[in-house]
Amino acid sequence: MNCLDFRRAVLSDPRQADGERLAHAASCAACRVFAERQADLDNRLFDAMRVEVPDGLADRVLVAQGPRRRRTPWIWALAASVVLATGVALLVPPGLAGERLAREAAMHAEEEKESFRARQVAAPGFLQAVLADQGVRLAVSMGEVTYARLCPLAGNTARHIVITTPDGPVTLFLLPTDDQRRRRAEIATGGMTAIAMPAGRGSIAIVAANPELARALERALAQA
Ligand SMILES: [Zn+2]
Ligand SMILES: [Zn+2]
Repeated sequence: MNCLDFRRAVLSDPRQADGERLAHAASCAACRVFAERQADLDNRLFDAMRVEVPDGLADRVLVAQGPRRRRTPWIWALAASVVLATGVALLVPPGLAGERLAREAAMHAEEEKESFRARQVAAPGFLQAVLADQGVRLAVSMGEVTYARLCPLAGNTARHIVITTPDGPVTLFLLPTDDQRRRRAEIATGGMTAIAMPAGRGSIAIVAANPELARALERALAQA
C-alpha cells in the first residue's frame, strides 16, 4: 500500500484499520500523523454531530481548522465533507429523529387531502400483512382501510394508509426499511396530533385529529 492509497482509505473510513493500513502506518511517519489527525477530526465531528446539527456547521468546522487547513487545504476540506456526508443522517439523536418523522408525517397527511376523501377498499388482510412486514399486528380492529399508496417520507418510502374509524380518519405511515433510530415522539401541530415510534423493523408514524385517536391506534398496535 502506498501513501496515496493509505490516505484515501483513511478518508473513506477513518475508524477502520486493516493489516495493510497498520503496516503502512508503522513504516511511514507522515501517514501516521495524517491518520491521527484524521481520527482526531473525525472524533470532534462525531461529538459535534451528537447534538442537532445547525446550518453551516461544515463551514464552521473548516474555519476552526484554519491553520491546518492552510497547510493541507484540500485534504481537510475533503475529510470534513466525507465525514459530514456520511455521518449526519446516522448521528441524529433518536429523540430528535422521532420528532422529525412525526412532523413530516403530520405535514404530509395535511397536504394529501385526497387521502381523506378516498374510499378505496383494501383487500382483506392487507393491513395485517403490511404491519407484519414491520413485526407488528393490530390487536383490535380500528375500522376500514380507505386509502393506501406508496409515498416518499423522511427520505424513505412509506405506505401511506388511512383507516376510517367511528371517531374519524387516522393516518398511518409504515416505513419498514427506515434504518434511522427513532425514539417515540408525540407532537401537536396544526390541530393534529402525530406520533412517531420505532417498530420491530423500521418506523411507524400515526396522524389523527386529536391525541386520543392517535394514541388509540398506537395502543392497538402490538408486537407480532
Ligand atoms: Zn505513507
Ligand atoms: Zn402520501
